[in-house]
Amino acid sequence: MSTSESRPPTTTDAGIPVASDERSLTVGPDGPLLLQDHYLIEQMANFNRERIAERQPHAKGGGAFGVFEVSHDVSAFTRAAVFQPGVQTEVLARFSTVAGERGSPDTWRDPRGFSLRFYTDEGNFDLVGNNTPVFFMRDPMKFQHFIRSQKRRADNNLRDHDMQWDFWTLSPESAHQVTWLMGDRGIPRTWRHMNGYSSHTYMWINAQGERFWVKYHFKTDQGIECFTQDEADQMAAVDTDYHQRDLFEHISSGKYPSWTLNMQIMPFEEAKTYRFNPFDLTKVWPHADYPLQEVGRLTLNRNVTDYHTEIEQAAFEPNNLVAGTGLSPDKMLLARGFSYSDAHRARLGGNYRQIPVNMPRSPVHSYSKDGHMRMQNVTDPVYAPNSYDGPAADPSLTDDGGLWYSDGEMVRAAYTLRAEDDDWGQAATMVREVLDDAGRERLVQNIVGHLLNGVSDLVLERAYEYWRNVDQDLGDRVQAGVRAKQNEKDPKAAEQANPARSSMQAKA
Ligand code: NDP
Repeated sequence: MSTSESRPPTTTDAGIPVASDERSLTVGPDGPLLLQDHYLIEQMANFNRERIAERQPHAKGGGAFGVFEVSHDVSAFTRAAVFQPGVQTEVLARFSTVAGERGSPDTWRDPRGFSLRFYTDEGNFDLVGNNTPVFFMRDPMKFQHFIRSQKRRADNNLRDHDMQWDFWTLSPESAHQVTWLMGDRGIPRTWRHMNGYSSHTYMWINAQGERFWVKYHFKTDQGIECFTQDEADQMAAVDTDYHQRDLFEHISSGKYPSWTLNMQIMPFEEAKTYRFNPFDLTKVWPHADYPLQEVGRLTLNRNVTDYHTEIEQAAFEPNNLVAGTGLSPDKMLLARGFSYSDAHRARLGGNYRQIPVNMPRSPVHSYSKDGHMRMQNVTDPVYAPNSYDGPAADPSLTDDGGLWYSDGEMVRAAYTLRAEDDDWGQAATMVREVLDDAGRERLVQNIVGHLLNGVSDLVLERAYEYWRNVDQDLGDRVQAGVRAKQNEKDPKAAEQANPARSSMQAKA
């Protein structure tokens, strides 16, 4: 704590020294307050406006700054400056849960957001990934509905496992991600102990203009560690903010967490004939087909000093793409290009890119002008083309977000099916070939525990079939597990405990 001599004087937001930190202006010591106490009014008004709308979804999170350093030469695949050998780039990372609100426990079972911003010399490059390599759906029309099913009911404002399983079991493409979620990695021990995946397929473009399809894998150097359901429940009761605290304290004490970036790289033409759609977000590319290629290391080494301005107002967006990088025909990714920037405009205002944490370290020469809360001066000319030395587009400096050929009738249709496009196969591979017996048993117990939490009979029956489609034995064990627990319970008590569920069942 500083001495009174070294403390700066309190000022108003206009920089004017104030008369008191503790006393408001009144008519006599016991008299009424005076409207001209501008400082009191400023403090009350500021306090009333401190909260801004939280993110919808990914509201609960935390993050830190760091550095990304390239260790291996991947210039044959991308011309992006950020991925050239030896280059170091400042990074901002934000980790989050998906469904919970800002004060919700860090250790709820949920995928984790893994968002990165690289402040490159060529502008901001953002990767808005997760700690899972796949997602619950492949068409963005379903995303909003999915998130609503994970959040709260309209009537009692409670989260509801019946909604969650109703949506999942009516959406078989969710099976791979739900298997992941119900498995060990559904609750990471800390943010330091989880991987980050782009999940989406993106494009890389090299200096010769050759294109590649790529997936990013940030593998934790701390090793994968997870909480069991019991450990996570216990931690939720003891320390709601455990993951945020863990990251902050490790960085404060110089124990910097790091991740090694590995890429899967598919030659552009191979996507056309690959055995399943490589842009389907519910699928991974098997390592045997596309082995991981090391690129560099991400290290987080600097805590934020103001959570609100540096994390709450951080606006990551998949459309922040630098030369040498691009999008892909993944429909989910293309929709996120709109929805992220739209969410930022709604939450932070149209000039959100002028908030310091969102400003690039490279110069900005855009023709955007005016608007609410603009911070940077606009200079003439304010239009293009012009005769007065205003900025002029240089196509050689961009790959325009990655371009590819497409043609066809306008339709509302699922992706064209290929030989190995199905909803269950990769989930089955995880259950049968990746998990060991103990992991499979924990998977069964996690699913059973989740299903026993207010899921209606109608949805339960569908859930057994869902898991049998993944693996017959898994489905049988889930059903047997639920039935055994139900038999132990008093059915009347269960009915009274969940009246909303009973009325919904009656309607169904
Ligand atoms: P591999 O045997 O080469 O890879 C299996 C991968 O599974 C591991 O590398 C590891 O990913 C991940 N894994 C291990 N334990 C768990 C767990 N408890 N929960 C979730 N993931 C785990 O096989 P394939 O590449 O052919 O993939 C087989 C299956 O593995 C896929 O169907 C998918 O379900 C799963 N998987 C595949 C990934 C991929 O990108 N190919 C990534 C993650 C999972 P990591 O090395 O990233 O830690």
